[in-house]
This record gives sequence, structure tokens and C-alpha cells, in this order.
Amino acid sequence: MPDTVVTFPSGSTTGEATVTHVAGDVVILDTTPFHPVDHTWPDQPGDAGVLRAADHEVEVVEAVMAAEDADGTLFTGGDIPVKRGTEGWTWLVGHRLAEPAPAWLTESATVTAEVDAARRAALSRGHTACHLSSLALDAALADLWRKDPGTDPLGNPNFEARANQTSSIHPDGSVDEYRLGKSLRKAGFDTETFAAQLAARQEQINAQLAEWTAMDAASRVVTEGPTIVGRRRWECDLPEGTVGFLCGGTHAASLSEFASVQVTLALPDPQLLVMTTTVTPA
Ligand SMILES: [Zn+2]
Repeated sequence: MPDTVVTFPSGSTTGEATVTHVAGDVVILDTTPFHPVDHTWPDQPGDAGVLRAADHEVEVVEAVMAAEDADGTLFTGGDIPVKRGTEGWTWLVGHRLAEPAPAWLTESATVTAEVDAARRAALSRGHTACHLSSLALDAALADLWRKDPGTDPLGNPNFEARANQTSSIHPDGSVDEYRLGKSLRKAGFDTETFAAQLAARQEQINAQLAEWTAMDAASRVVTEGPTIVGRRRWECDLPEGTVGFLCGGTHAASLSEFASVQVTLALPDPQLLVMTTTVTPA
């Protein structure tokens, strides 16, 4: 089996495909518009949708990563024992069904793969908003660094890279957790001032987000190859310049898709910052 060709980076949600393998409730296609949840950094849930042929239809619960080793053993999702792109493995998108594949869904069958487009669009807005709010967070905390921690794509001190622990994207929003521990303080971040000014910093982030989402800046996914294993980047043409970083997810095509993006900051304990991002679609 060759690596699965993917069409979701350009925004596609439907396409014709040939079934190349069926393993219980997981179906592999030669090409797919389905975005799978990543097995090493599962920030964005996989797409849901349907596979269709003639008058048959079956529901895809979630698209997941799948990989086949040199001996032809197939692994899916969290069971994959190696990092995406490891040599000697074949990299695939698995379409996980609610039940074992029906009889009509067999190797070499032609199917139409159709993603739930409304859910995809909401996840894409959520993911783009997540990146925008992290850039706005870096900017709003820039003056709290006593040492240079390295810079983010806008040239601000990279709080995101230093402190982000988990990122979880959902339809029209995201939740990011940041560790404010001893090592961040040692790296030169003024945690005490930040904690004392939490509300003002939140306001600053929301003002920046309001400025960005008032514009129709283009946003896109740039790929280094046609298959699921090709590296992908998110890019966005902000007024400050085009920003981008490695990202396997899906994204809004323009910031005009947002009526607003807003964050709330919370410190449920002194070592943990939680940033919740909420999108209001245009
Ligand atoms: Zn991302």
C-alpha cells in the first residue's frame, strides 16, 4: 500500500476513492478528504462523515492515523509505536466506522468519501483561532520577560513554545494549558506580575484579536507533499506580516470567517494558566 493521498489541506470535504484495505472497523482509501486526529499531538479531533457506494452508506465516526510496518502489520491511532514519518513505515488515514465494515465495502471498491462539512468548518475556525490567540498571548506578555526565551513567528518572546503543555481544539474554540512553574521563572518570565495583572492582559489579547478579525486576512495550509506524511504548515497574512508554523490541522480560509475571537484567562492553581478561546462565526 502507498501512503494515503490527502485532499483536506486545500479545504476539500468530498472525493472519489478506491478502498485499499479493510481491517475490522477501519477502512483505508487510496485518497481521502478526511483529516485524521494525529497520534502524537492529538489537538484536533479527526473528521466524521460517511462513505458511500451506489445506494449504500456507512458512517465514519472519526478519521485516525494508521500505519503499516515492514511486515504488513497495521496499527491505528494511539497503538502506532513510532512517530509520524518514521522510515520503513507506510502512513495511512484510517476511517473508523461505528461497527465492522459491511460486505459491500471491500478492497478495490469505489466509494465517495464525504466529510461532515459543517463540523469540519467549525473545527477549522477553532484551530485558526487557537493559533491567533496564542500569537496574541505572546504579544501581550512580551514585556514580562527578563531574558530572551526565543521568538515566535511575530518576533515576540515565545511564551507559547516555552510554556504550552496541552492544546485541545473543538468546534469553534480551543482550550490551551500552560505550565507556570519554576523552570519558566528561571527562564526569565515574571509570573508574579502576570498573575496580578491577569484581567488587564486578557483585555490586551482580546483587543489584538478584535483588530485581526476585523480584517479579511487570508489563512491557509501549505504542504510539502500530497500524502498524509508530508509536512504541513499553517500560514496567515496578518497586517504585521505573514506568519506561519508547522501544523497538521485544518484551518479557516480567511479571517473574514470570524465575527469575533475572544479568550478568557484563568489560573486554577498558581502553576497553571488556562486560556479558553471562543469563536463567534461570521
Ligand atoms: Zn495547529
